[in-house]
Amino acid sequence: FTLSCAGQTIPAVGLGTVSDPRVDAETTRVAVLEAIKAGYRHFDSAFVYGSEKPVGEAIAEALRLGLAKSRDEFFITTKLWCTFAEGDQVITAIKMSLKNLQMDYVDMYLVHLPLRLTQQMTKSPVPREHIMPIDLKSVWAGMEECQNLGLTKGIGVSNFSCKRLEDLISFCKIPPAINQVELNPFWRQKELMEFCKAKGIHITAYSPLGAHGTKWGDNRILGCNVIEEIAKARVKTTAQVSLRWVYEQGASMVPKSFNKERMRQNIDIFDWSLTEEEINKINQLPQRKGSTLASTFGPHDLVLEIDADI
Ligand code: NAP
Repeated sequence: FTLSCAGQTIPAVGLGTVSDPRVDAETTRVAVLEAIKAGYRHFDSAFVYGSEKPVGEAIAEALRLGLAKSRDEFFITTKLWCTFAEGDQVITAIKMSLKNLQMDYVDMYLVHLPLRLTQQMTKSPVPREHIMPIDLKSVWAGMEECQNLGLTKGIGVSNFSCKRLEDLISFCKIPPAINQVELNPFWRQKELMEFCKAKGIHITAYSPLGAHGTKWGDNRILGCNVIEEIAKARVKTTAQVSLRWVYEQGASMVPKSFNKERMRQNIDIFDWSLTEEEINKINQLPQRKGSTLASTFGPHDLVLEIDADI
């Protein structure tokens, strides 16, 4: 997909790198290297996932082994975590991420969430006094500075609603190239998709398989009869039907699989398409958002407000 930032393109399928339950860095490094062998060139990381180091190590190793010719072949996304969501901390934060990744630049730097944490908390729920509204003007100025300094090729956001994007667009000098949000057959984001299309903001889908097996997901997609029926008829898997649906919405996606067979399956969705009838069936599935901020941060007023919004 072509992005709004000059000449930049994003591979339609990337590998997600957050694991739940958490795995060690070596497991992530091996999975990323395996994904590179399978043809992945797009990796979704974040400071808070703890996956930047193993992603960087796997890419460095792939270059040493000749699996890829140069760093430019890859599209690497990482994200500004909420504890650094202050104007004067953005440059420091991206430099930390770049050090973890052993890179001079990332391809996409995203504001992870529209909120600020005054302190990193490992326990959930996070006490209310540590959760603050984000000062988007100053944070975005820091993001623009990252792009101007060449520390990232593009900048964007994650978990932003139409309302928050509208606000951002009203004052930004560089508009967000991407909004990374939950998108799958059970959370189709019709209004946000239309808004982003009109504004030239590309959508990347997270949890495109419903995050089965994680604490923020379930098997509503992989266990869905309607999707399974389509998959059987097309000799595909339910995962492939879900990912193909996302692709046909015009969105890129970052399904996470550290399993060799499943990661190959997830990137093999390009030699067929869904019929209008199949798309209509999927578009009638009931809507239910999987991940909520309240489940991670607690049911605080500010968090609930953001959840209601996305
Ligand atoms: P997901 O990709 O929808 O689902 C991942 C789960 O599905 C894993 O348990 C994986 O297990 C399993 N799986 C993968 N492929 C499969 C297949 N073909 N058949 C059956 N099961 C399969 O969920 P996600 O991890 O929430 O989202 C993906 C990525 O999005 C994350 O890794 C992260 O990079 C990003 N993300 C971003 C945000 C944000 O706020 N920006 C939030 C959540 C996630 P195996 O590994 O065992 O295959």
